[in-house]
Amino acid sequence: MRLASVQGRATLLVDEQLVDVERASGGALSSDPMDHFGELEALSALLDAEDSQPAAAVVFDAPVPRPPKVIAIGLNYRKHAIESNMPIPDEPVVFARFSNALCGPTDEIVIPAGCDQVDWEAELVIVMGRGGGGIAAADAWPRVAGLTCGQDVSDRREQMRGMKQFTVAKSYDTFAPIGPHVVSVDEFANPDDLEISCSVDGERVQNSRTGDLIFSVPELVEWVSRHITLEPGDLIFTGTPEGVGMGQDPPRYLCGGMVVETTIEGIGSMRNVCVDG
Ligand code: ZN
Repeated sequence: MRLASVQGRATLLVDEQLVDVERASGGALSSDPMDHFGELEALSALLDAEDSQPAAAVVFDAPVPRPPKVIAIGLNYRKHAIESNMPIPDEPVVFARFSNALCGPTDEIVIPAGCDQVDWEAELVIVMGRGGGGIAAADAWPRVAGLTCGQDVSDRREQMRGMKQFTVAKSYDTFAPIGPHVVSVDEFANPDDLEISCSVDGERVQNSRTGDLIFSVPELVEWVSRHITLEPGDLIFTGTPEGVGMGQDPPRYLCGGMVVETTIEGIGSMRNVCVDG
């Protein structure tokens, strides 16, 4: 199942057709995407809905518009830790992002004036379903609603300031595009091993597989939920593979006019154009 948000309304994608959840259910189901992540199965009755329209020309919003929490994981691929000159962690590196940073899969990324070290980070994003606390890794996948693509756009200058400022440097408005859809876990043959890539101006700069994550999706859910109760619609950005701009020689960064494309196998692509703020 693919759940999207179109003009703020929960929308299923079925064979390239859009099904508006509230209308197709005759008002029985909410139009708010946030109301469905805890029980995506409730939408399955709509997969045969007659009331649909072509998806071709529509603009998708962030599929999870108001997550209760946005949790992010740093240094979760070995080669990215090495290119960042950081030790390979033996426990997850966790930080927070704020929801103001979220935007849609085709929205503009605004590069603030004076920020000359803004970098890309393609990431697999976990969208929590039922959630809960104290979830064992073996029980994690059934608590996840689905997966989507994300960017963890980062102002490296701010990120590396002083004692490190991950939360601020990765929470500027528009720095967290997600989408295009939330794809339910059952849609993937193997949700633990998906190709992930990022292109900048058409050049493939990141290309890896989520099977190379140091801490897998189930391990992250277990580790985070040990002390933090996960709620429906919470997001976990799982970390980026190697190939960020900071790690190149010489380093390369984003500026107005550049195009960032983020693709994950089985989910789809986002295309975000950078603009000068
Ligand atoms: Zn990241």
